[in-house]
Amino acid sequence: MRFIDGEEVRARLTFEACIPLVRGAMIAFSRGQTRQLLRSVIPLVDGRMFGIMPGAMGERAVFGAKLISIFPDNFARGAPSHQGVIVLFNGASGAPLCVVDAGEVTAIRTAAASAVATDALARPEACTLAILGYGEQAGTHIRAISHVRPLTRVTVWGRDPDKAAAFARDMSRKTGLSVEASPDARSAVAAADIVCTVTNAREPILLGKWLRPGTHVNLVGSSVAGPVEVDCDLVVASRFIADSREGVLAQGAEFLRAKAAGLIGDSHVVGEIGQVLAGDLAGREGPDQFTVYKSLGHVVQDLAAAQALYQG
Ligand code: NDP
Repeated sequence: MRFIDGEEVRARLTFEACIPLVRGAMIAFSRGQTRQLLRSVIPLVDGRMFGIMPGAMGERAVFGAKLISIFPDNFARGAPSHQGVIVLFNGASGAPLCVVDAGEVTAIRTAAASAVATDALARPEACTLAILGYGEQAGTHIRAISHVRPLTRVTVWGRDPDKAAAFARDMSRKTGLSVEASPDARSAVAAADIVCTVTNAREPILLGKWLRPGTHVNLVGSSVAGPVEVDCDLVVASRFIADSREGVLAQGAEFLRAKAAGLIGDSHVVGEIGQVLAGDLAGREGPDQFTVYKSLGHVVQDLAAAQALYQG
């Protein structure tokens, strides 16, 4: 059995490779060609969690599971908040094939999924990006989104202005893009065509009224029922697309809060990104529409990445 460590994942799972893999996986998922259970999360102490995500890519295709610890307090210590393994099995023989570093795959595949959604849902001419948060996902999201739109300006906001400024300088140097820190979330998003929320916030850090008509938003930070990154206004005003409709109806916190307030029903989740990618569901319906992609994260993204790393 092979072990594919974080260094190998970083070197080989490029966005050029991962974006099409995730695209294909989400189409297969929405066509019902994959199998998976709703993600299980075991709460640990102090907001820490253990996630268990099993799935199969098809009847005779590879299957496996991601086991991942989520320790949000690691960020302040300079350690990754997501660590774990993906175990991939051979669909014909049942034999385990490889164990892959899940922290690195998660950082890359989540951003690749947001890039795929952005490509499908953002206005074609979108070129300004706002990132709320400056952790691991913030970095991978800037890189990934730059693969689907020619970014002329990136603005970053986070709770600590010094950390936001340091992150912006670092990302400018590493990507060659114009990345600037903003003093508050409102000014960060004021001129943005695309917004990604990648924080551990439990209450809204982004209000719908701050956004320009036509903005596309990737909601990434909250992956369990409870914590929300945006207000109900944005949820209600947007064309709301899920990675997994079943997942978002059960665990999509922003959707669930607006539903609990009596503002929307289940039909507000118009469908899944895989349906949009397959051409079975309209994405954006006009230049002034708000579009939202709600990302909970899906094991088919992890398995597709692990399979490509194993076969590559
Ligand atoms: P990191 O731990 O690397 O970064 C967390 C970020 O959130 C930091 O910028 C931190 O900065 C900020 N933050 C924490 N609390 C708050 C708050 N109350 N308000 C505003 N900002 C806050 O995490 P990642 O970048 O790896 O992940 C970001 C989020 O995305 C997490 O919530 C994670 O669970 C989620 N995620 C979702 C996935 C999906 O598939 N949808 C996959 C992977 C991650 P500071 O504390 O200085 O404010």
